[in-house]
Amino acid sequence: MPFTAPDPLYAAMMPAQREQWLKQALSSMESPSPPRRPLPALPAAGTKRAAPDSRPRKAPLAYGPDLPVTSAKGVASPMAAKLRKLGIETIRDLLYFFPRRYNDFSRIKPVGALRPGEEVTVLVRVWDIAMQKVRPWLSLVEAAVGDDSGNIRVTWFNPYVAKQIRPQSQVILSGRVSTFRGYLAMQNPEFELAEKAEELIHTGRIVPVYPLTVGLYPKPLRRVVKAAVDRWATALGEFLPEELRGRLSLLCLADAIRNVHFPDSQGLLAQSRRRLAFDELFLLQLDMQIQKRRWQEAQPGIAMEAPQGLLEAFRASLPFPLTNGQEEALAQVLADMATGRPMVRLLQGDVGSGKTVVALMALLVALFCGRQGALMAPTEVLAEQHFRTITALLSRAGLVEGEAPPAPYPFTPIARLLTGRTSKSDKTKILSAMASGQSHLLVSTHAAIQEGVTFASLGLAVIDEQHRFGVAQRMALRQKAQGYSPHLLAMTATPIPRTLALTVYGDLDVSTISELPPGRQRVQTKWLRPAQREKAYDFIRRQIEKGRQVFIICPLIEESESVEARAAQDEYHRLSRDIFPDLKLGLLHGRMKGQAKEKAMASFRAGDLDILVSTAVVEVGIDVPNATVMLVEGAERFGLSQLHQFRGRVGRGEHPSYCLLLEGNPSEEGNERLRVIEKTYDGFALAQADLEMRGPGEFLGTRQSGLLNLRIARLSDLALMETARQEAQELLTHDPSLTGPQLLALRQELERVWKNDGVDFN
Ligand code: ADP
Ligand code: MG
Repeated sequence: MPFTAPDPLYAAMMPAQREQWLKQALSSMESPSPPRRPLPALPAAGTKRAAPDSRPRKAPLAYGPDLPVTSAKGVASPMAAKLRKLGIETIRDLLYFFPRRYNDFSRIKPVGALRPGEEVTVLVRVWDIAMQKVRPWLSLVEAAVGDDSGNIRVTWFNPYVAKQIRPQSQVILSGRVSTFRGYLAMQNPEFELAEKAEELIHTGRIVPVYPLTVGLYPKPLRRVVKAAVDRWATALGEFLPEELRGRLSLLCLADAIRNVHFPDSQGLLAQSRRRLAFDELFLLQLDMQIQKRRWQEAQPGIAMEAPQGLLEAFRASLPFPLTNGQEEALAQVLADMATGRPMVRLLQGDVGSGKTVVALMALLVALFCGRQGALMAPTEVLAEQHFRTITALLSRAGLVEGEAPPAPYPFTPIARLLTGRTSKSDKTKILSAMASGQSHLLVSTHAAIQEGVTFASLGLAVIDEQHRFGVAQRMALRQKAQGYSPHLLAMTATPIPRTLALTVYGDLDVSTISELPPGRQRVQTKWLRPAQREKAYDFIRRQIEKGRQVFIICPLIEESESVEARAAQDEYHRLSRDIFPDLKLGLLHGRMKGQAKEKAMASFRAGDLDILVSTAVVEVGIDVPNATVMLVEGAERFGLSQLHQFRGRVGRGEHPSYCLLLEGNPSEEGNERLRVIEKTYDGFALAQADLEMRGPGEFLGTRQSGLLNLRIARLSDLALMETARQEAQELLTHDPSLTGPQLLALRQELERVWKNDGVDFN
């Protein structure tokens, strides 16, 4: 809205707000800089991001819903400070501060019809009310109240109630009915004085229940939200195009905001939630699809096709035939790489489905097309394993560094490993060989690649265990190539339910390997009670006598990595001393130095250790075919996908394998997970169950949650997600830069929502 135009919101402001608005307006007129940052145009394809403007810039003039929350009625600075703790800075934040849940007090019942245990609302007269001290610090307010149909005893442990409720007044009470010495009673009900309740906001309706913080109480909070909603909901401005709103029967924004806080009915509440959830998903989809278009259109990709006969030769040298699933995924990857559009693909496949070899073949295509490849893993242990696997498979194909390549290979690729434990001098050598193009393939940890690796000509980047990487890191990768975008293949063994994939990875194409190589055994999974620990140890001993090896995973300790490491050490010592003194045990935890970690892994892999005691660091990727038992301590604390990952560490060889889930502190939710995993072997089904039970947190690191800051949309809402995705696609197909005049408000909203998340529209 141009600053000079008469502001329709001005009329809606309180006098104090007008004053503040005017002050800001005047001070901004004095300054030479424009009063509001002009809305930047979405760039056409091909434009580079501008460097951030370093000139000091005045804060944009706040008005309407973007005024500080202190401009809202009833919010003085002490309350504003508490609201800030909840992330509420502006009036808009307050309007978008959604209730955690609702109490439906909308049906008022006669006292005579109450039954113990019910949540009810009653309209009663206060016959008598009195306060007594039951302890020096504890006052009990007791009231006898009733209506024509009966009486009920009410108590509060809150002395202020006695000041507010007078005898003979009429009040509305909401709460649960209990009994006291055989009489009906209510304890600490919500109350509101009936004569003051021209507009019921605490009882007598569907009442919002908000998240609170220290010193912030439900009633004052509800009161300020109510006032803000009444005054400001309309000022938010509709940003969805009229046509779309009509077609999808979505409430208008103001009504949705009104009814999400103070719903007039359950039906309207559901409709408001739908509208607001759609907004979140739609804006998210728009953002991701814009990002994807940028990736694919801003810079060209490089078309790469394997030289004749080369992949066939490599395939023939593998120790196994590829499964159909691997072949299909590989074909999709190669088809992407053969086009001039940069690939952005997610390869998901259950644990052990053989993604590494698919990635390696794609990397070979890049290499033999004269480009470089990068393979990144989240941990050192995993990067080292990948490096070993790759050099082994290459040497099976006759590609050994320093030796001449057999036909049909044009040269022998040079692969290098770079992790946190690579020595400084080696690192310098590796970096310069990558920068000059002397080396062809870099296998590294994610951290290692971030630190200043330059490629002469990066053609394909593979990111293993993608669920641990964020969009930001992917974007950083692009900076590794100049003038074009490298192909990108992300892999994950935490299968993502389709709903979540659409949301989180809406900007990726997805390939799925849904079968395991033949001959894989189902890992027998058993949920054990604490009392069965000895049995588990006996079982482990017998497996080791047969020559097998065992993982023991220590309980998850969220406090800190060092506490967890200490706990793992204690467990290691306990097991070595008291339980398995005659066996060889190793220890692996996140606090160990890279070298020590690798040593533990190497001796376990070589069969020098019988048991590897570890924290969750072995979770991903580790491949030791002789290991047949995975014992997880405190199993109820892990998510389903994580437990499935642990289970996937065994059953990789010819021997029958077992996953023993030892329960620590039983909890209803944890036990439910153990019940599910005992019966379910399909990673995708487990991921879906996990999503329903634990929400999306399990799939996203906390760092990524900024991307997925969904406050109201449920990720399990497949239909709405699909709708949002299709609508976003449709809109961008017709108007890739959202320039249409009917889309101005939408563009502003998009910019507003995403500007703090590193998505830059300049
Ligand atoms: P993930 O998909 O979990 O990353 P990996 O790539 O680590 O799986 O492969 C798991 C194991 O399966 C490895 O030991 C690998 O050599 C083996 N493998 C991969 N593909 C096949 C196949 N087609 N047939 C038999 N074994 C295979
Ligand atoms: Mg893997």
